[in-house]
Amino acid sequence: MKVPLVDLKINYINIKDEIDASIKKVLDNTNFILGAEVKQFEEEFAGYCGSKYAVGVANGTDAIKIALMASGIKKGDEVITTPLTFIASAEAIVQSGGTPVFADIELDTYNISPQQIERKITEKTKAILPVHLYGHPAKMDEIMKIALSNKLKVIEDCAQSFTARYKFSGEWKVTGNIGDAGCFSFFPAKNLGCFGDGGIITTSDKKIYENALMLRNHGQRDKYFTETSGFNSRLDTLQAAILLVKLKYINKWTEMRNMVAKKYGDALKDVAVIPTSAKWCAHSFNYYTLRFKDKGTRDLVQKNLLENGVACQIYYPVALHLQKVYSHLGYKKGDFPNAEKVQDETLSLPMYPELDDEKIEYITGIIKKTVEAGKL
Ligand SMILES: *Cc1c(COP(=O)(O)O)cnc(C)c1O
Repeated sequence: MKVPLVDLKINYINIKDEIDASIKKVLDNTNFILGAEVKQFEEEFAGYCGSKYAVGVANGTDAIKIALMASGIKKGDEVITTPLTFIASAEAIVQSGGTPVFADIELDTYNISPQQIERKITEKTKAILPVHLYGHPAKMDEIMKIALSNKLKVIEDCAQSFTARYKFSGEWKVTGNIGDAGCFSFFPAKNLGCFGDGGIITTSDKKIYENALMLRNHGQRDKYFTETSGFNSRLDTLQAAILLVKLKYINKWTEMRNMVAKKYGDALKDVAVIPTSAKWCAHSFNYYTLRFKDKGTRDLVQKNLLENGVACQIYYPVALHLQKVYSHLGYKKGDFPNAEKVQDETLSLPMYPELDDEKIEYITGIIKKTVEAGKL
């Protein structure tokens, strides 16, 4: 049996008529740049998150870069983030002019540790960039408290956490609506994916909103009047038209992802560390990530899954502090033991709303057999 990591085709086929009609409307209008659908999608997305504003941009990496710049990050500023994330989180810090400073993660949620953040604050620190990894929210209560007492901005990387919720100061909030700004990606494999690249910034801060609007459109507030050096980074009207349709289904899809996660967990809880979903949050399960007792077991499970047609992936095989591109920052192996443990011992399984029981049983069967054979 062949199982892909994500199945974009089945997701499209199920709502094909609606998507095609929405695309056709844009083709008929030919208003391809900042057409009406972009504004409408920005309003609906902001509404979903409970934030005042949203600014559609070209991709998730630009969303982080522009959100940081719109919040005042400039050359020489330090931004604290996790070493266990996709390269884009740190890359966007560098593109904004800032310097990434890494702080180790917690092993239960795989997210940045508030205690480790505090140890990394210097007079140059200007912001914290927590990443809600795999769809599990970071500890925002503690992070916001640290930010407040040190006058730091908090920009949330929500590329993997759309629909995830967090109980902030006793009140349920959607991730991206807790810090100063939230950054989302619509890369096809994310929870809400478009048919190409896309991203969005959410904020309730008028200043950040106005700066972001300007930065995404060549630094212009009004057409041909340029105030600052900006970018060409707008969300395409065609992508917004697709996203408007998909947004209506997102809660149902998150429920389905949670069902898949429950079935995986029931089958695998005795052979691996399954993902936690802390009481103070609701997981969005962009990825389903298992941790095994050592690297050897993980590597063997990966090999057996691949040999039997099951796609699987390590998120991430090299933590960012060990990436060649950041060698000048002076980190070394052993600096972040928890991030390195995850890099060595975890494996992510196929995860998409439509994943059926037959495939789940097939996948979990291979994993159980592999781990149990290793115990003999
Ligand atoms: C996907 C992703 C991004 C970047 O999004 P793009 O749209 O691909 O630029 C940033 N951060 C994290 C954690 C991601 O998973």
